[in-house]
Amino acid sequence: MERQKIIKMNKIWIGTNWKMNKSLSEGISYSKELMKIVEQLHQDMEIFIIPSHTSLWPIKNLIDSSRLKLGAQNMHWEDEGAFTGEISPLMLSEIGLDLVELGHSERRQYYNENDIDINKKTHAALRNKLKPLICIGENLQQKNNQITNEIISSQLKVALNGINEEQAADILIAYEPVWAIGEAGEPANSKYVAKVHSHIRNILEELYGHTGKEIPILYGGSVNQDNFLSYLDSEDVNGLFIGRAAWDLISFKEILSSINMSIQSLRKQNLSHINGQ
Ligand code: PEP
Repeated sequence: MERQKIIKMNKIWIGTNWKMNKSLSEGISYSKELMKIVEQLHQDMEIFIIPSHTSLWPIKNLIDSSRLKLGAQNMHWEDEGAFTGEISPLMLSEIGLDLVELGHSERRQYYNENDIDINKKTHAALRNKLKPLICIGENLQQKNNQITNEIISSQLKVALNGINEEQAADILIAYEPVWAIGEAGEPANSKYVAKVHSHIRNILEELYGHTGKEIPILYGGSVNQDNFLSYLDSEDVNGLFIGRAAWDLISFKEILSSINMSIQSLRKQNLSHINGQ
């Protein structure tokens, strides 16, 4: 199964947020096994995992960050202070993390996070050399009212307020429609996803010109072994953010290996094309 569009960008980002799952020992054995898998993958695949805070340091010590990137699920925007129960960007950066997920819909829904908070966290992440993975997406009511584009524009523009072009080069965006996420979620139609990603790309270009063309936009929401390639088929889908289907290494490996095969064969075709063979 070959997907021409997979070659559109240099890198394909594939990652998973474990949410509040996996004990320390489960997380460690998953990460060890995943390391063996990612060592076999094409260099153009950027793989990342986002465990719970307590697993970050032990996992950091057993993975090779050049092959498997590590992120946190959330953080405060202040480097330190009287914020009981919070973790700071400075603390995450001290561990040597690569990225931090910001604004997941569960954070918005259960902890009242809003776009202004996400903007402050985006600035804090960049200040601390952490790549922000900013999650955006409309809920079902907004989709039914056909205001998806408006919601996406406003989430994106507020989250990125004050971020300059140079900083924007370090950002990742994840489009995750709320109605498509989790057990109750319904997988989105790939044409719908393609349209929203193209809208996101337009906004990024409007804000950052050429840099906006290069910002990776990942898709997430009930991605599984049956549908993942349909999303990657779209021009502006530069990766996948996977929940349940990546928590089990058998199904995650299946997804990773299939994308790897596509990339290997497309890169080979590209080379022979360049060499005029
Ligand atoms: C998520 O919660 O961000 C997610 C993508 O989950 P799932 O793939 O399980 O729908």
